[in-house]
Amino acid sequence: MGTTGARAIDHSVLTQTTSVAPMDPYSAAAFPTPSLADLPVERLDRVGPRVAERLRRLGIASVQDLLFHLPHRYQDRTHLVPIAELRPGDETLVQGEISAVELANGPRRSYKVWLADRSGGGLLLRFFHYSRQQLQTLRPGTRLRCYGEVRRGPASLEMVHPEYRLQTQDVDPIEQRLTPLYPSTEGLQQASWRGLTDQALALLDQHAPTECLPEEVLRPLALPTLTEALRYVHRPPAEADPSHLVGRSHPAFLRLSFEELVAHQVSLRRLRGARRATAAPKLEGDGRLRRRLLEALSFRLTRAQERVVAEIAADLRSDRPMQRLLQGDVGAGKTLVAALAALQAIESGRQVALMAPTELLSEQHRRGFAAWLAPLGIDPTWLVGRHKGRERAGLLETIASGHAKLVMGTHALFQDDVVFRDLGLVIIDEQHRFGVHQRMRLRAKGSRAGGAPHQLIMTATPIPRSLAMTLYADLDLSVIDELPPGRAPIITVAVPDNRRDEVIERVRRACEQGRQAYWVCTLIEESEALECQAAEATAHELRDTLPGVRLGLVHGRIKGADRESVMAAFASAELDLLVATTVVEVGVDVPNASLMIIENPERLGLAQLHQLRGRVGRGVVQSHCVLLFRPPLSAAARERLGIIREAESGFEIAERDLAMRGAGELLGTRQTGAVQFRIADPLRDRHLVVAAQRAADLILARYPELASPLTARWSSPREEYACV
Ligand code: ADP
Ligand code: MG
Repeated sequence: MGTTGARAIDHSVLTQTTSVAPMDPYSAAAFPTPSLADLPVERLDRVGPRVAERLRRLGIASVQDLLFHLPHRYQDRTHLVPIAELRPGDETLVQGEISAVELANGPRRSYKVWLADRSGGGLLLRFFHYSRQQLQTLRPGTRLRCYGEVRRGPASLEMVHPEYRLQTQDVDPIEQRLTPLYPSTEGLQQASWRGLTDQALALLDQHAPTECLPEEVLRPLALPTLTEALRYVHRPPAEADPSHLVGRSHPAFLRLSFEELVAHQVSLRRLRGARRATAAPKLEGDGRLRRRLLEALSFRLTRAQERVVAEIAADLRSDRPMQRLLQGDVGAGKTLVAALAALQAIESGRQVALMAPTELLSEQHRRGFAAWLAPLGIDPTWLVGRHKGRERAGLLETIASGHAKLVMGTHALFQDDVVFRDLGLVIIDEQHRFGVHQRMRLRAKGSRAGGAPHQLIMTATPIPRSLAMTLYADLDLSVIDELPPGRAPIITVAVPDNRRDEVIERVRRACEQGRQAYWVCTLIEESEALECQAAEATAHELRDTLPGVRLGLVHGRIKGADRESVMAAFASAELDLLVATTVVEVGVDVPNASLMIIENPERLGLAQLHQLRGRVGRGVVQSHCVLLFRPPLSAAARERLGIIREAESGFEIAERDLAMRGAGELLGTRQTGAVQFRIADPLRDRHLVVAAQRAADLILARYPELASPLTARWSSPREEYACV
């Protein structure tokens, strides 16, 4: 517990990083302040190659990147709460003396520790994992300070695995500021984050980052300077209002969101300009392959599919690069539309690249496309991060030679050594994970064969049209606003987790009837590791209680081939039940799966819940979704679950989401929707969008020298830190 104190920084390292013209060594100007953007994180204390690599996974390479990696939550350890005043759901700091302990054996071994204080209250601390040393130190009479979430247990209030510290002296100091929690990745603890940001903040004093927003933009909005904003969001004072922080409506957050929105608008304007000035290959196509695919299908295109296919086909025939956003609810049939576009390009003798945000989704596209395209003699090439060495070299060769007509993969396709011979079309699935900066890099890819490739960007995140127009001002929009016929709406129910046994029974019955089910564990925590652990524990439990059910497990730490084989087994019905983290969120398509259990749905945003639920309801049988929540629900959570139960269409949910957020809803943890932003959330911050557009125009017209530093600051490549 407790923050790591800031250690003294050796400032001499800073001056080594910039090359400056020789100057009078005794003048102050001899030590110019280098930009924090040029200072690699390795220069900080306790950042070796391993930590640097982990930071890089989150897109953090420089000290400046570190400062822009913001806490997503805060803990209040600034005061002690009397045990008698605790309420379920609180996360609090308590202090007391151990009154009794008990070592419980049996199927769920645990060590129980009762804590009491002068308030007369009692609190049970439960440890499912414990060391011998813990058994020795946690004895009656020991004084402890604990931090954790209070839950209602069978007999009393409890904390499960609280953080704790033995109280040796009476007056241990209490934190003066709120404790930040950072989005993290495996192997980086919160204490490390605090140590790193302490160092970065210390540097901020002497090396203030470039102010990219002119005063005439900032003043009317009454926003703080960049330095003030960064300081506040990393170390808010004890009296800060946590709801403003988590909801990110505090001016310090607004300042950062606003700057990011401005950077985004500047990028969009540049993209649009570039697009007008760029030539693209005309992809006429003779329709031969497309006709054969359509004839082989067991169904007909919906009217909406026909319409968007025609819109795309017309764009592809033009000599300016297509930039089209294809929106359609989950299950609307975007993949087929993409396949038809790909065939038009292939008919025209060009290569096609299809990118998905995760390997899992990319694998699935590969399988899906292979089934459609193999009869046409087209064999997709697959390139993802795990392809290394000779194998990768071989794949690159088939891509460079033009042999590979259809290339599928993940971000791996962005890498510089991936060279296409005649790339005509790039399709990006689930656009919200690919930002405007990746789009910029992509357009460079096809240029050697003459002209930029056309781009089709698909998303199942329904964004209200007006918002889409400002967010994706450089894109044209196609919407599939109709589902294929015969889909019965999914019946959604909310069930408290004290009825977990009934839900498990329901899974058993569904599986016995030959149906398949998903069980999604969505513990939203600081670490991917915890979410994966939760999925493992649930899989364990379900294996015990459902011995006849064939069960598979996928989560972010089960990698590549292993995950693929589990998914493949589930898709081919060799598994009945798939326990997963939110890796199944987007795209996974198993029509026979008709039951979905979502644990802790109260912690998810509406868009994410809708995405998850969309994994069922893809076949002909009636599908069900069970929201297995943990009471008590906050008012906002109750309303959210209510909306999910009532509303079927993603667009309706998006509108209601918007309305709720407008009313001050605090979605807190993970952003949903168009997640190509680091800090801004265009839904939450939509009142800033118009001002951001104006600011972008002003910067490009009057302060063009600020444009590049501004976009560069917000563009470092950033991968998902979540379990995807
Ligand atoms: P999404 O838009 O979510 O990517 P998919 O492309 O995965 O949706 O389509 C969902 C399912 O619907 C797939 O199994 C697909 O083959 C099927 N499908 C697509 N178009 C039609 C249609 N016009 N009629 C019937 N089924 C369709
Ligand atoms: Mg899809």
